[in-house]
This record gives sequence, structure tokens and C-alpha cells, in this order.
Amino acid sequence: MPIATVDPTTGETLRTFPPHDEAAVDAALARAADAAREWRRTPVAERAALVGRIGVLLDERRERYARLMTMEMGKPLQAARDEAAKCATACRYYAEHAARFLDGETLVHDDGGVGRVRYDPLGVVLAVMPWNFPFWQVVRFMAPALAAGNVGVLKHASNVPQCALALAEVVRDAGGRRGLFETLLIPSDRVEAVIADPRVAAVTLTGSEGAGSHVGAAAGRHLKKSVLELGGSDPFVVMPSADLDIAARTAVTARTINNGQSCIAAKRFVVHTDVYEPFLDRFVAGMRALRLGNPMDEGVQVGPLATGSIRDDVHDQVRRTVVAGARLLCGGQPFDGPGFFYPPTVLADVPLDAPAATEEVFGPVAAVLRVPNVDEAIRVANASPYGLGAAAWTTDAAEKQRFEAELDAGSVFLNGMVASDPRLPFGGVKRSGYGRELSAIGMREFVNVKTVREA
Ligand code: NDP
Repeated sequence: MPIATVDPTTGETLRTFPPHDEAAVDAALARAADAAREWRRTPVAERAALVGRIGVLLDERRERYARLMTMEMGKPLQAARDEAAKCATACRYYAEHAARFLDGETLVHDDGGVGRVRYDPLGVVLAVMPWNFPFWQVVRFMAPALAAGNVGVLKHASNVPQCALALAEVVRDAGGRRGLFETLLIPSDRVEAVIADPRVAAVTLTGSEGAGSHVGAAAGRHLKKSVLELGGSDPFVVMPSADLDIAARTAVTARTINNGQSCIAAKRFVVHTDVYEPFLDRFVAGMRALRLGNPMDEGVQVGPLATGSIRDDVHDQVRRTVVAGARLLCGGQPFDGPGFFYPPTVLADVPLDAPAATEEVFGPVAAVLRVPNVDEAIRVANASPYGLGAAAWTTDAAEKQRFEAELDAGSVFLNGMVASDPRLPFGGVKRSGYGRELSAIGMREFVNVKTVREA
């Protein structure tokens, strides 16, 4: 894939970037290694202050960065503004709490000796990131990593090079020294060489299963720590006691947020048979009412998909799901004309082995499945290779307890939409990856938990 900005609203290539050659990558890694040596000795208060200043700049430049995101990947402008604001919030969160999260325990033992735990940085961490939340995915790694004393090297997705460069710019402008946060403009087939480089200590990837499996294997070959945040096919379970109006309204947002291209979007709607038809009526009406259009226009709720191939893949999954026996209730046809638009689509009575039930659909397409009771709801919700997030709608205390305990997912949201939050750990199980981001737990993924024992 060329490294280029292609406007998904028109399909027009706006700018291309030559990839960095080997010498440029080597120089960037040398700068990063240099910075890592100094940064680990910088007091945590100073490191946290830098992260705080990055947050201030993200707030100040919200409009500029939002337009960049929308231009490169097509999310509605207001959603891009919200993304920049969320990044600033995460920076403020780590600026405020980093020192506490990195404060290791001191234990006095019976024999009079003292044991201490330190959380030391690992060094240079490579971040391989996706285009769908081009600022948030990076900042949620970067803010805790820098505060912990690590330095970052970013390989961003090839279709968001200007966002990648803007992220390096914001760290520099906040006062980050050279090498503290480097951006590599390289294709994915050169990632393994960076992982193998002795100056790189660890790698984190957010992206598809395929990319995760390659990067995880490469990290394993070179014995480096890795965190993988991969795809999801989150269930959204609706039981008879749920408030159907609120559940259906939230379902529309949860499926179409970011033009349907979110790893934690609700993708499979597992609905109890007693409320199946009334839920579907409300849900389909909500999906039909969404305003589709140019994501730069205020008020547009759904923009184009990020690339032509994603649009084609989504349509292919819809066609195969209909062939497998699903009922198409709305959408289902790509538009003629420029841009990569796909309409909000609802597929009902989706068989458990149909593509929309077994694969991740990265577009505004909902698969609705009918279940007769809570046991089946849990079985169907868990019948996916993924396990990122899950939502369950019920007011019944016993059902809540079962969903919380039995849904195989990194997060379970009761009567609400799955969302990431700097205060809470975020990550998945099964083919959604391993490791956690955010909160104190995420910050400690890239540290050396060092034991110090003094006699
Ligand atoms: P990709 O996995 O194709 O790309 C993600 C990043 O990985 C890009 O920087 C890409 O570079 C790089 N990459 C791709 N293949 C390889 C490889 N073999 N070796 C090394 N690096 C590689 O995913 P998308 O960008 O298309 O994002 C969509 C997918 O990511 C969806 O499946 C989605 O669910 C998942 N995702 C998961 C999230 C989570 O938090 N769990 C969040 C967001 C998305 P290049 O662009 O140059 O190919």
C-alpha cells in the first residue's frame, strides 16, 4: 500500500510520501535510543509534565487535527474533534496519576530485610497503529509510555501519514527532545526488521488479526514483549426487561460510530425472542434515519469507509450473509459515484455460521440473531473467535451477574455502550489479542517490574 493521503469522500489522492529509506530508519532508532538513555533518568514529575503539555496542545489544536483526521480517514468532523479532546483527557489523566502508578511497594520482611518493587522503563517501544482512530490509538499508548520513561517509535497505517507526522510534531512542540517520539514512514513488510533491531525493546500493535499474528510472531522470534489489541465482533445482548427505546437508540450509535469502523463497535445484536420484533422495528428505523454524507459537513453522522477495499470487503460479507439465509432489512447496496460510502445496513435472522456472525464486519452493518433464553444468549454471544467487548441490556439482577461473569470479553458493559476510558483497563481475550492498555495496568505493560532487596 503506498504511503498516501487519499480522501475517502472523493477517492482522490491528495498527497503521497516516499517511504523512509534504511538510513533514515537507522538514524531515527539511534535518536530514540539516545533519548531513552536520558529520559529514564528524568524525574517522573518532569515526564508527566511533558505529557500534560501534549494534552494542552491537543486541546488547542483540536480543530486543525480534527480536519486532518476527517480528510485522511473520513470520520465525521465532530467525532474527530471529540477524538482530539479524548486524547487531551488521557494526557491529563496520566500527567496527574503517573507518579502514583509508578510508585512501587516497599516491604519489610520478618528477617529485617527490605524488599522494594520498582517500575523501570523498558526503553524504545515500537507502536504499530491503525487508521481508524488515528490520534486516539496512538495517544493511548504514548501518554502512559512517555510518562513511564519509555520512548516511542510510531509506524502508523499507510493511509494516515499526515496524522502520523502531526503526532510527532505535537510531542516536539510540547518540548519533547529529539528522539523521544519518532515517526517512521515505512510499509508493513519492514516492521519485522525494526522489531529485530537491538535498540527496540518491545512492540505494541493495534490492528487486524493478521497484522497481530505477524507482529506477535516477530516479537516472539526476537524475544521481545508485545501487546496486541486486535479486532472484535462485540455482542450487544437485549433481554426482555431492557428499556427498548434506549437500547435501540444506543444500538444504532454503537454500530455506526466511526462509520462502523471501531474494534469495539457492537456488531452482533443478540435479541431475546420476546422483544425481537419491537427491538428490530426501533433499530431499523434508527439506522434508516442516520444522515450519511460528506464527513466535513456539520451534522453528518455517517461518512465514507476509509478505503475502497474496506467498502468492497464489507459488501462481500453482506452478500455472503444474505446467501447464507439472513434477511436484509435496510441498506446492503454500495452507492454509485465517488467515495467509499456504504449505507447503514441491518441483517436479521443471521445464522450462527454466516459471515456476519463469524467474521469481523468493519463497516455500518448489523447482524441480528434471535435467542430464546439467557443460556442461549450467553452461548451465542460467546460463539465468536473474538473477545474484545460485550454489552448486555437487562434490569434483572441474576441475569446481570451471569453476563458479567460468563461473557468472554475484555470488558462487559451493562445497560450501556462499550467505550474505552483512560481510567479503566482496555483489551481483549481470544483472537482479540492480549495485554491491556490504559489505567495503571496498561501503563505497567511496558515496564521492568524490578525487585530490589536490601539485606
Ligand atoms: P491492519 O492490521 O491492516 O493495520 C494496522 C497496522 O498494522 C498498520 O500500521 C499496518 O500498516 C500494520 N500492518 C499490517 N500488516 C502488517 C504486518 N504483516 N506486519 C506488520 N505490520 C502490519 O488493520 P487496519 O488498519 O485495516 O485496522 C482495522 C483492523 O484493526 C480491524 O480488524 C479492527 O478491529 C482492528 N482494530 C483493533 C482495535 C483494538 O483496539 N483492538 C482498534 C482499532 C482497530 P500498513 O497500513 O502499512 O499496512
